[in-house]
Amino acid sequence: MFLPVGVSGLLEALETAGFAAYAVGGCVRDSLLGRVPQDWDIATSARPEEVLARFPHAIPTGIAHGTVTVVWEGEPFEVTTFRAESAYTDHRHPDQVRFVPDLEADLARRDFTVNAMACRRDGQVIDRFGGREDLKNGIIRCVGDPGERFREDALRILRALRFAACYGFRLEEKTSAAVLESRELLCYVAAERIWAEFSRLLCGIDAGRVLREFPQVIFAILPELFPMEGFLQYNPHHDRDVWEHTCAAVEASSPELAVRLAMLLHDCGKPGCFTLDGEGTGHFYGHAQKSLELAGTVLRRLRVPRLLGERVLLLIHLHDRPVFPEERWVKRQLGRWGEEVFFQWLAVKEADTLAQALAFQPPRLANLREVEAAAQAVLREGQCFSLKQLAVTGCDLLQLGIPQGPQVGALLEQLVQAVIDGQVENQKETLLAYVAFLSTSTGEEPGKGGNPWPNM
Ligand code: ATP
Ligand code: MG
Repeated sequence: MFLPVGVSGLLEALETAGFAAYAVGGCVRDSLLGRVPQDWDIATSARPEEVLARFPHAIPTGIAHGTVTVVWEGEPFEVTTFRAESAYTDHRHPDQVRFVPDLEADLARRDFTVNAMACRRDGQVIDRFGGREDLKNGIIRCVGDPGERFREDALRILRALRFAACYGFRLEEKTSAAVLESRELLCYVAAERIWAEFSRLLCGIDAGRVLREFPQVIFAILPELFPMEGFLQYNPHHDRDVWEHTCAAVEASSPELAVRLAMLLHDCGKPGCFTLDGEGTGHFYGHAQKSLELAGTVLRRLRVPRLLGERVLLLIHLHDRPVFPEERWVKRQLGRWGEEVFFQWLAVKEADTLAQALAFQPPRLANLREVEAAAQAVLREGQCFSLKQLAVTGCDLLQLGIPQGPQVGALLEQLVQAVIDGQVENQKETLLAYVAFLSTSTGEEPGKGGNPWPNM
């Protein structure tokens, strides 16, 4: 295996000082997979205080766990003393971290075989648990007895699913059975740790399959979603129950966290809104609102960052609204929500459609494509749909004698709408003349009161 120069330099420095040192964990796994590791973790026989003494600029970032951050050739590395872990009475933290002199025990405490490999400075891989073989076969397997390992630290349950989702791997049989059996222990794990793993799981290339394969584990952290499983829709647009539709929608969406979360939660209110009409067709009136409420609870409990949570809720709110391939409509929506939300909204609608009955998909997808093309054209042509693009500013209006205050903003908004509607060109002189015309023709101060244009 190949080590970057910085890493082998740091290993050499530790070895020269008389310690054993290896690259370990995720970086070895990713290198063997031919992926670029996110970071290189170092394991060493040196005690934290010895690392601190050897590298004067080192920072004791996780001293309780034996971790010191060493900046080597401008790059930070986490250097952790070989350690073993004793009993875990709370299913979360080891009661005691014990430093050990050699690598073996350190590898044995790691979660999965593919994460329990180390690499020497000369590039030789140390693999005591068959990690390489499991990597080759795409298998997530616990090091040691899976039930025991999940009882020690229940977060590993979710990590197993995260690696399966992100790498397209399968869980080995005993690991899979233990994941299911131990799932209730996830209630002992802090929301932040759950979120850190779950958010990555959800963006994995195989997230849909993992959700479909381990619904009970997902419901252990998101009990609000439980009623979706097996909930039949009795509607020609849907050939799957609500949970299967949800999994398919996640699968069909781009791996963007806001969109994936929106897909996961967009229909969670459906079971609470079900009605059956005289013809035996199922309806879910008001489900977007109900989903919004439940999703809010879920997002708060998971401690999802506020801006992301708000975005997800907005997308859920919008998911069932129709979209129109009409230039004016597109410009108004672009102006109202902004470009990013607008395209995420289309992405949500596309994924939702792709998870519905096949027969209804073609016209809906065609409509979405047209809407997208219309929006792209608006952007490409630099057409005006927002205040930012308007050829006049608040200052221009003040100079025209409009009194300072909320009126200025309202008038600018009016002008944007007039430009979108093609009433006036987005050109400074024309817009200023238009404002003057407005004040004479309506007899009112522009920006105040009545709307001089129909259909707005
Ligand atoms: P990523 O590349 O996504 O960061 P990673 O495997 O490096 O994946 P980390 O959370 O950074 O994941 O953990 C680094 C290493 O520490 C893992 O490879 C694994 O060996 C070990 N590890 C992490 N969390 C646990 C855990 N909960 N139980 C046992 N070992 C763990
Ligand atoms: Mg890592």
